Amino acid sequence: MDTLVNLCKRRGFVFQSSEIYGGLGGVYDYGPLGVELKNNIKRAWWKAVVQEREDMVGLDAAILMHPQVWVASGHAEGFTDPMVDCKVCKKRWRADFVGDRCPECGGELTEPRQFNLMFRTFIGPVEDEAAQIWLRPETAQGIFVNFLNVLSSARKKLPFGIAQIGKSFRNEITPRNFIFRVREFEQMEIEYFVLPGTDEEWHQRWIEERLQWYVDLGLQRENLRVREHQPDRLYLKSGQVLTGRVKEFGTYYAITQGPETLEVPKEEVERWEPGELAHYARRCVDIEYRFPIGWQELEGIANRTDFDLRQHSQHSGKELLYFDPESNQHVMPYVIEPSAGVDRSFLAFLADAYHEEEVGGQKRVVLRLDKRLAPIKVAVFPLLRNRPELVEMARRIAADLRRYWMTWYDDTAGIGRLYRRQDEIGTPYCITVDVQSLQDHAVTIRDRDSMEQVRVSVDRLVEALTERLGRCDL
Ligand code: ATP
Repeated sequence: MDTLVNLCKRRGFVFQSSEIYGGLGGVYDYGPLGVELKNNIKRAWWKAVVQEREDMVGLDAAILMHPQVWVASGHAEGFTDPMVDCKVCKKRWRADFVGDRCPECGGELTEPRQFNLMFRTFIGPVEDEAAQIWLRPETAQGIFVNFLNVLSSARKKLPFGIAQIGKSFRNEITPRNFIFRVREFEQMEIEYFVLPGTDEEWHQRWIEERLQWYVDLGLQRENLRVREHQPDRLYLKSGQVLTGRVKEFGTYYAITQGPETLEVPKEEVERWEPGELAHYARRCVDIEYRFPIGWQELEGIANRTDFDLRQHSQHSGKELLYFDPESNQHVMPYVIEPSAGVDRSFLAFLADAYHEEEVGGQKRVVLRLDKRLAPIKVAVFPLLRNRPELVEMARRIAADLRRYWMTWYDDTAGIGRLYRRQDEIGTPYCITVDVQSLQDHAVTIRDRDSMEQVRVSVDRLVEALTERLGRCDL
């Protein structure tokens, strides 16, 4: 991880926020190369889930929303993590990340308390309760509250989905692991609305679809896995095991499985094992990536049933229903939610692409990023920087290529070093202008991965690069 953090800072992918003031915990800025990679990830996602699909449309909802939204969604009440304070050094920790002692000073910890992760702010000039609002902790709610607007304007039939990319904010108690867990981040979220009864099949399809997206963009399959959120389990004395959502009452447990709730007397139960499946979800999986810090969530894909539309219908008084022409009835759709993090994807693509190898007795660092994701597609160098004719020709070629691709011109070092610099940031092709180029009007194209060089006429350069880079037009 340190190697990646170091590369990110040194080459201008990611900087700590407000670094000259000592930094701001859990907040990062994306530098000149970082913003390109990040934009390319977002474009690739948008292309796959909006542009290339007939059943999807996009949305860009505001970060600030009516405070009732978060009451209806359950965030005002329940978007909390347990926190503990160290009685000695006063440091605050997420209770489920620490043992019974302070990791910093070994001091005694307080009992866990629930801490709401939403950032609060005020709208308008009066800082009183009425004007208090939150920064959104997820983009999803902007989709639910616009359900009717999109339905009536885009005229979609079920099943259809709405996609959105945007910033989210969570006041994480223990932000850590670089851009993996931060307080300001970006999400790429889909709410895919389906007829109840078709939800399980669509859920499975989205799991496969989303997994394949990461693989198509270069993540190695063996570094990805799908992890199921386990439901609660009741182990009965008879040996039977019941799964679902369990609630405890005086003399019995109530276990909810789909639409049914079963009451089980306590004397019949041997033990109750709580799971992590959210109360509103019928099924939820995480796509996990093998990060340098271990297997961790990259994207969550949940079958949220009609929980959100129902909640917003109740709280807003507007019926968020769909008229189904087949059955001639109004139905409340179920929703499948694939929710991915841009920053975590960024880290995964970077980690997966990072390779160190030995070439001619020297270490070569190369980012084998998919060409569509690479921040710079082509770099152009003059072989000799003290020959003005070469410099001029190289600059002219670079200016021409900029019309099509992110192109970098560099003459600040010897050719070997220039190649290494581009390998390290994942640039797929380097173009070199040499003395012979002045006569034969041809240049060499060097391939990042194979390091092979071929000579191409300048007149054919755009064509030759188009062949190699594909259209690259995310
Ligand atoms: P975790 O369990 O890691 O806190 P979560 O289950 O709360 O994550 P979701 O609410 O499912 O996360 O959010 C969907 C996606 O948004 C996550 O898969 C992740 O990629 C991204 N995400 C969530 N919280 C953060 C964060 N603090 N920093 C960066 N990305 C995040």
